[in-house]
Amino acid sequence: MAWNVVILGGGFGGLYAARKLEHALPAHAAKVTVVTDVNFMLYTPLLPGAAAGTLEPRHVVVPLREHLSRTDLLLGHVTGADPDRREIFVTTAEGQERTLRYDHLIVALGSISRALPIPGLSEHAVGFKTLSDAIALRNRIIHTLERAESVEDEAARRALLTYVFVGAGYAGLEGLAELQDFAADIVDLYPRSRVEGLRFILVEARERVMPEISADLAAFATAELRRRGVEVRTSTTVERISDDSVELSDGEVVPCRTVAWTAGVRPHPVVEKLGLPLERTGRIVVDRFCKVDGRDDVWAVGDAAAVPDPARKGQPTPPTCQHALRQGRTVAGNVAAALGAGKPKPFTYKTLGVFVDMGHQKAVAETVGIKWRGFPAWFLARTYHLAMMPGIKRQLRLVVDWTVDLLFERDTSELGQLGHPPLLEVPGGGAAAAGEALGAGGGAHGVGGGAVGAGSPEQATGRR
Ligand SMILES: Cc1cc2nc3c(=O)[nH]c(=O)nc-3n(C[C@H](O)[C@H](O)[C@H](O)COP(=O)(O)OP(=O)(O)OC[C@H]3O[C@@H](n4cnc5c(N)ncnc54)[C@H](O)[C@@H]3O)c2cc1C
Repeated sequence: MAWNVVILGGGFGGLYAARKLEHALPAHAAKVTVVTDVNFMLYTPLLPGAAAGTLEPRHVVVPLREHLSRTDLLLGHVTGADPDRREIFVTTAEGQERTLRYDHLIVALGSISRALPIPGLSEHAVGFKTLSDAIALRNRIIHTLERAESVEDEAARRALLTYVFVGAGYAGLEGLAELQDFAADIVDLYPRSRVEGLRFILVEARERVMPEISADLAAFATAELRRRGVEVRTSTTVERISDDSVELSDGEVVPCRTVAWTAGVRPHPVVEKLGLPLERTGRIVVDRFCKVDGRDDVWAVGDAAAVPDPARKGQPTPPTCQHALRQGRTVAGNVAAALGAGKPKPFTYKTLGVFVDMGHQKAVAETVGIKWRGFPAWFLARTYHLAMMPGIKRQLRLVVDWTVDLLFERDTSELGQLGHPPLLEVPGGGAAAAGEALGAGGGAHGVGGGAVGAGSPEQATGRR
């Protein structure tokens, strides 16, 4: 009888594990199932480009079915597990509760934005982790510009045109840089806003931005942001967020209507319900082979796992896609070995390079010890992502989008209503909730939750 291998999550770790298993195992030796709540892998390094409108949102995702030929896909939400009975609990896209049995389990459930106990954070800030976050932020910029044109009160206009990003890692720095570039590009279309000016603030608790890159490249990135008029506030934290202001640790209260929260990630909460050993930050404890501590049949990779970092003794690998995808390949080889095909290998990858795309044809990069900045770094970053994007079809789409962006102005349509059709009138009174009637919004557990356009920007962030 064929072995049952179940992979939880279809992101970088899950997709690359499944692809490698298709090659590593003899045909029909195993039934491989990926359980995922969306039917695509989000290529996160290009998310800032989708937010800024340089890339079509559909072009920064990889449809799983197109890239997996011998793997079953089960669209659903993992809710828990019983590793002693080798069982996984799933609520399917249809809302049915199912129990899956496995011989080997690979956990690749990724992470969510890490929230801190800051008053007003969950009500008023938007994350920058999913496609809907990115599109909500883009829509919010357009929406605030539109509203700033019609308000008479100057203080209210200033608050509408102020954008605060909290956290200066990959997501915060790239997200702010691309969105500021986008706003600066379109502000000329808004006469009152042009006169008032835009205010972008990057708040970072540590002493400098981007600890992932060397200090002089981080200094270059900071100087580039300041050159564009962005206020970079290091050694500063956010104390409180309200509907129309943000209070900083230096006592300043910044009137603002948009707060993007990009201050780190933590493993997906369902990881706590899998009955597996967790370390201090909630990541699953695994060894160099990505095998879970105390289990011979459970493996974990990516942001949800604390895989020992070969480059930094005693520390787990950083939560990056370059690690997750390689851990996916390593774990697939090791599961195949456990099933009798090949030999197990430890995870040995050491970071080869880092790219931080800052829009405006500028970036900073560090590759095998060589530092790049400005246009060469930007060109290198785009070439790298082009090469890493799976499938020639997607690669060509990226090239077309980037070329169009070089030649034409940005689009300022705010399409927050996409996927949220108006209610149909029901003869005799009442109306069907269109979202329910058409299945928009993706079911009880957010299946399809990466849907572009999470309603209006206010719906998406809870702000008014
Ligand atoms: C804006 C941004 C920019 C980034 N830029 C870079 C970069 O330039 N370079 C870099 O190396 N890294 C970058 N990263 C980090 C990188 O995206 C992550 O480290 C990587 O995605 C982790 O891979 P993973 O497989 O662990 O998780 P993911 O890729 O997040 O995959 C997890 C999958 O599990 C699914 N899932 C979660 N919960 C459930 C559930 N309960 N049931 C079913 N399915 C579920 C999710 O929908 C998702 O498909 C960036 C991240 C962000 C947010």
